[in-house]
Amino acid sequence: MTGEPGRRARARAAAGGVKSKALFRRATALMPGGVSSPVRSFASVGGEPFFAAAGRGARLRDADGRSYIDYVQSYGPHLFGHVPLFVRNALSRAIRRGTSFGAPTELEVRLAGRVASMVPSIEMVRFVSSGTEATMSAIRLARGATGRARIVKTDGGYHGHGDAFLVSAGSGVATLGIAGSPGVPDASAALTTVVPYNDAGALARAFESFPGEIAAFIVEPLAANMGVVPPRPGYLQAVRDLTRENGALLVFDEVISGFRLAPGGAQERYGVLPDLTTLGKILGGGLPVGAYGGSRELMSRMAPSGPVYQAGTLSGNPLAMEAGLAMLGEIARRPPYARLETLGARLEEGVREAIASAGVADRVTYQRVASLSTLFFAPGDLHDFTAAKTSDTARYATFFHAMRERGIFLPPAQFEAWFLSTAHTEADVRRTCRMVGESLGAAFAAPEGGGR
Ligand SMILES: *Cc1c(COP(=O)(O)O)cnc(C)c1O
Repeated sequence: MTGEPGRRARARAAAGGVKSKALFRRATALMPGGVSSPVRSFASVGGEPFFAAAGRGARLRDADGRSYIDYVQSYGPHLFGHVPLFVRNALSRAIRRGTSFGAPTELEVRLAGRVASMVPSIEMVRFVSSGTEATMSAIRLARGATGRARIVKTDGGYHGHGDAFLVSAGSGVATLGIAGSPGVPDASAALTTVVPYNDAGALARAFESFPGEIAAFIVEPLAANMGVVPPRPGYLQAVRDLTRENGALLVFDEVISGFRLAPGGAQERYGVLPDLTTLGKILGGGLPVGAYGGSRELMSRMAPSGPVYQAGTLSGNPLAMEAGLAMLGEIARRPPYARLETLGARLEEGVREAIASAGVADRVTYQRVASLSTLFFAPGDLHDFTAAKTSDTARYATFFHAMRERGIFLPPAQFEAWFLSTAHTEADVRRTCRMVGESLGAAFAAPEGGGR
């Protein structure tokens, strides 16, 4: 990877890369929106996406040879940056033995053991191939175990694209959910109740409205898909108490927070244990993996030891298991959390200074927990999705492009988190903060976000 992008590279970036442009033209003819997952198309910030060619550590290189300091990091898996040596070595060992067997392997047993020893509430685990599959399966288990059909989720909480989760809030807490996408049947959406994040009172009212009907409350313990929104003190304990009192299961979706906030994820950091936990991202070390787990009693209800069905041809895939073992092994040998907190604190300090010198402290909010953070273009302490949505996303778009032109790749959407890895250096962070200062200038020079 080459070093810092200079003025010439910046000019090229502003003009857009020739190869990426050509690839995007071909891609849009062959794939909806030109991408395999919507956020990658830059639809919410405008302009065209660049195509990735290679990643190493904190750097991402695009098809036109431009290098970025990468804060997307594949949306979370790369706790140690792109392709750390121990993942590369594990994968080359694994691939010589085979890519998939359709029979159980020792790798699964070892990774399951690691997960159970790290995540406090997990005694048994089932491996799947994505976070979406993990949350869908956890909900099926919750329904199977309780004999109830309704689930409750938080507004702005993201749990993958399962029908049960693509639901938006109705007009009141006690209302039925509204299908969040064509193709989600109303009958399915009607089984999901949506409550605001950080509002235990709303969850209590949902239990009053649907006595004996709620199978589970699923929540990101640290919300990171509405931008980073930390739990208020006492919130997680309150939802733990409410679910228990009402005979419903508490599901922590730790697909992002798992292994990122602590070896045992958010449940370890905040000291509240759910009944079921969903995992993904870091667990796969960059390969497609998800998992869900909980007590032996609950997990034994899954087929073939129990009646709740769930299966997968490539589940427990040996390459993915090797990558996961490499990641969790590294976490155990060299815990990255102190380093990530130091880097996070430096980033926060620098961003806050940039905000102050741009004179926009009353117009933006920077929220951070450990290696996750978000810069919102709205004032105040944002504690739920209604508040987060007051962010001026047009201004974020201008800011995003200004950062990109300066060689910093932020998520191409306001409500995605910035991901730090241990591969980011203090120099990367200093440079990023300088560019935040310049880009805030660009964002606020335009009258209202500056329509891209
Ligand atoms: C990414 C994510 C998912 C979905 O995982 P996929 O692997 O994209 O299917 C679920 N829950 C949370 C909290 C996530 O961040």
